[in-house]
Amino acid sequence: MPCQFICPACGARYPTDRAIWRCECGNYLDLDYMPVLDRNLLPDEKSFWRYRQVLPLEDFQSAISFNEGFTPLVPMDFRGMSVLGKLDFMLPTGSFKDRGAAIMISKCKELGIKEIVEDSSGNSACAIAAYCARAKIKAHIYMPAGNSSAKSFQVRAYGAELHLIEGNRIDCANAAIEGATKSYYAAHAWNPYFLHGTKTAIYEIVEQMNWNAPDYYFVPVGSGSQIIGAYLGLQEMKLAGIIDHMPKLMAVQSNKCSPLKDFIEGKETPISSSNPSIAEGIAIHRPVRLKQIIDVVQKTGGEFVTVDDTEIIEALKASFLQGIYIEPTSAAAVAAIKQYEGKIQKDEKIVVSLTGSGLKASSKINDLLSE
Ligand SMILES: *Cc1c(COP(=O)(O)O)cnc(C)c1O
Ligand SMILES: [Zn+2]
Repeated sequence: MPCQFICPACGARYPTDRAIWRCECGNYLDLDYMPVLDRNLLPDEKSFWRYRQVLPLEDFQSAISFNEGFTPLVPMDFRGMSVLGKLDFMLPTGSFKDRGAAIMISKCKELGIKEIVEDSSGNSACAIAAYCARAKIKAHIYMPAGNSSAKSFQVRAYGAELHLIEGNRIDCANAAIEGATKSYYAAHAWNPYFLHGTKTAIYEIVEQMNWNAPDYYFVPVGSGSQIIGAYLGLQEMKLAGIIDHMPKLMAVQSNKCSPLKDFIEGKETPISSSNPSIAEGIAIHRPVRLKQIIDVVQKTGGEFVTVDDTEIIEALKASFLQGIYIEPTSAAAVAAIKQYEGKIQKDEKIVVSLTGSGLKASSKINDLLSE
């Protein structure tokens, strides 16, 4: 039985053989899907496809795969604290977004979709463009005008069509939704298949820790696809009896764009059109799944942490000096750990998600290092 879409706002259900991207009520959709992993049935294969038992695809033969995943989990040190870094920037397009794109675009292929639309200023666009290239699906990527980053070059190189939109990220999302009336809106912020792809990171982490959950998992949060995916994976593993506790999910944002913390404090996040922080990948003022992010963090006893640019640069430099070349957005999560000095016990395990490669941000990194 294929699973169904379910709307958490109004409870409506839809079959998943329909190419829809939101509920008739306007809300995002989730999947009514809670698979149980049988560890005895894991294949001898070091990629995230080893978890296909818990992935919501029908046809794994024609899934879009690079045999990717099983990125290293390596010890690092930040201000004297021992941390395990999950090197997700080592995925095929240079960020964790490949996990989500793999499942979402494979599902699009199953549905016979020939053309998709996505809006992003960065890594999710790269990931979706690459998987679409392999799936022979035409990708239209909407980006804010003036974006001439390495990420936009990468998107073009994969053969995607770039639409540059004047205005802010919200204008860009609206233009994409408009553009998607003729195709399918495969947006990482909305699509629940994307979340079931990103959840593979926490399966890997738990397996790499000999089937133990860490105590803290620090994640940089924008639209929330990574942190919600982590929660889904943890919930599944808890239910399957694989782990006995949930790590505290620590949602990290920049102090210049912190809609999670603002919401908790009853404030409205102001929208600016200029990029407010050097952590561009998490500068999302109106996350579609805002309340869901808050809910999953709170359910694990986690916290919402903000960091400023100075702290991000400090964490970035500390990572580089350990041979870890990440982008500034990823360093935000490393920077947040500092605030827990003395609060986290020595025997507690901290994992930090290193989400994106510094190779796409070298000129910016050069500017930061020469300041
Ligand atoms: C997209 C992105 C994030 C944030 O992930 P969300 O799923 O949007 O919360 C963090 N770091 C990098 C490098 C990203 O590209
Ligand atoms: Zn609904």
